[in-house]
Amino acid sequence: MTAFSIYLHIPFCTRLCPYCHFYKVPEVPDWKVYLDAVIGELDAMVNPAGGSVTTLYVGGGTPTLMPPEFYGSLLAALDDRLGLTQLAEATIETDGGIAGDKLEGYTRAGFDRVSVGVKSFDSRMREILGAGQLTDPDPVATARSAGFSSVSLDLVYGFEGQGMDDLITDLMRAVLLDPDHVSLYALEEAETGRPREGEPDLAAAMFRESARTLLAAGYHQYEITNFARSGHESLHNTVYWEDGDFIGLGPSAHSAVTADGTRVRWMNRPDISAYLGDPESCREELSREIGPDRAKEALILALRMTKGVHRPTFALRYGCDPLELLKPHLAELTELGLIRYSAGRVRLTTRGMLLSNEVFVRILGDR
Ligand code: SF4
Repeated sequence: MTAFSIYLHIPFCTRLCPYCHFYKVPEVPDWKVYLDAVIGELDAMVNPAGGSVTTLYVGGGTPTLMPPEFYGSLLAALDDRLGLTQLAEATIETDGGIAGDKLEGYTRAGFDRVSVGVKSFDSRMREILGAGQLTDPDPVATARSAGFSSVSLDLVYGFEGQGMDDLITDLMRAVLLDPDHVSLYALEEAETGRPREGEPDLAAAMFRESARTLLAAGYHQYEITNFARSGHESLHNTVYWEDGDFIGLGPSAHSAVTADGTRVRWMNRPDISAYLGDPESCREELSREIGPDRAKEALILALRMTKGVHRPTFALRYGCDPLELLKPHLAELTELGLIRYSAGRVRLTTRGMLLSNEVFVRILGDR
């Protein structure tokens, strides 16, 4: 492993949102206790002789429940063990309600990018989502004055009670704050059934309208749900889509590393008590992929990006032609207007992005 990314999961939340699929618990331990566990996991996993960290992403849960000192110590530990000279991006997630001086502590600790989970600016929409009040009306300005050089906003769409006008108003409010990056998430109904997913046709129209609005405002769509100003694409998430190596730390975090042509995936069991007791005991291998299986996984990840898959480059890297992998479905997917092949690249069309899960299930189906 020469270069890899690190994801750290902070599984603590003081409020449990009804629609949330991420692993989280309501009790927050002393930050030093969690730090010891994370560093213990790192020490057990990382070969001190090799590899450099290129991106760091801290998500949750609620990463801002850990103080800046936690991250200062974490980055020092990473620097000690691996060296951070190649670190090109360090992102922390916030919920948009964090005071400027605490945010400054995070930039001093080493973060340069913040992903703000706004969800919606509208108090009625936030109530439907169970997201509480948005205390800072301009989290982009607050993050910039705290020293972040790249600010991303997350918005949620496609839930019952949200109309097209509500979403457009949210998008316009987001654009007026001038973030560097916008992510759009379609609500996926949780087991609680609250809030409910909206009408699929309306959600599809919302997706198209959102893309139109953001493109008109000067953002470019580089992945199905992600839009950026040039130079502000998420480097960390691009590692996932480009089938790079990443190590996940913390309960529920996933990892994937390729060695000698085999892609090994594992995850940490989502169990905070077990993790604090012995992080290594939580590790569970998920799969080992080789040959066409590995290539198909890589293909569907790469198809998420609007630049698509460059046929010769893919063939060189994986030893198989992407059009051959798609062959059983290529004619049908092309006829349905879901996939397009031109100038040596295969890409999802706009309709294909809307129905991407169906496309991917079909591609993976004949493994
Ligand atoms: S949405 Fe965020 S704050 Fe709400 S429960 Fe999930 S991780 Fe916690």
